[in-house]
Amino acid sequence: MTICFATNNANKLREAKKLLQGHFEVVGLKDIGCTEDIPETSDTIEGNSLLKANYVFEKYNIPCFADDTGLEVDSLNGEPGVYSARYAGGHHNNEANMSKLLRNLAPFDDRSAQFKTVITYKSGSVTSQFEGIVKGKIEESASGTQGFGYDPIFTPSGYERTFAEMTSEEKNAISHRGIALNKLISYLKSLNN
Ligand code: IMP
Repeated sequence: MTICFATNNANKLREAKKLLQGHFEVVGLKDIGCTEDIPETSDTIEGNSLLKANYVFEKYNIPCFADDTGLEVDSLNGEPGVYSARYAGGHHNNEANMSKLLRNLAPFDDRSAQFKTVITYKSGSVTSQFEGIVKGKIEESASGTQGFGYDPIFTPSGYERTFAEMTSEEKNAISHRGIALNKLISYLKSLNN
């Protein structure tokens, strides 16, 4: 069975292909000819994940899954959350997003936060969601060069390195997306048996 992962992110696609190898063929948006921007107009992570999966299934009629992720900071009432990509404006600028977060968090002692990913799988009448959460804290300054987004300022609980100081294998083994993806994979494998 071929499944579309509703993403244009080559790193995410490679990871999903690796995890599902031998069970499913995973293709990306480009592979199915989807080049348009899929609307992400919901105000929740669950909602945007669902919007993307529905869009691809309805338009391309292929089993698919979509992910949406946000960084939720406790002292900021869960911000930036669903707006993580455009926290400092509409430019998906990682540096500006991190600076804004560090600035807003400066007055607070509690720097606890979590990454949350929701994956939605959609095929025929089936819609299932899988959540992955990793708890940790926001550092006072950036460290490390790996990864992307807020990785240089996020240290997962139980570790003394930021996500950006880990290899992609180390990060994927404990990350929000890794957890949600593994739940999806167990589900898909159970369908295949
Ligand atoms: P997306 O839903 O995966 O596109 O993620 C939305 C935004 O959350 C990204 O633009 C990043 O700013 C942030 N983000 C998502 N996943 C990660 C991660 O694994 N590390 C750091 N930041 C992330």
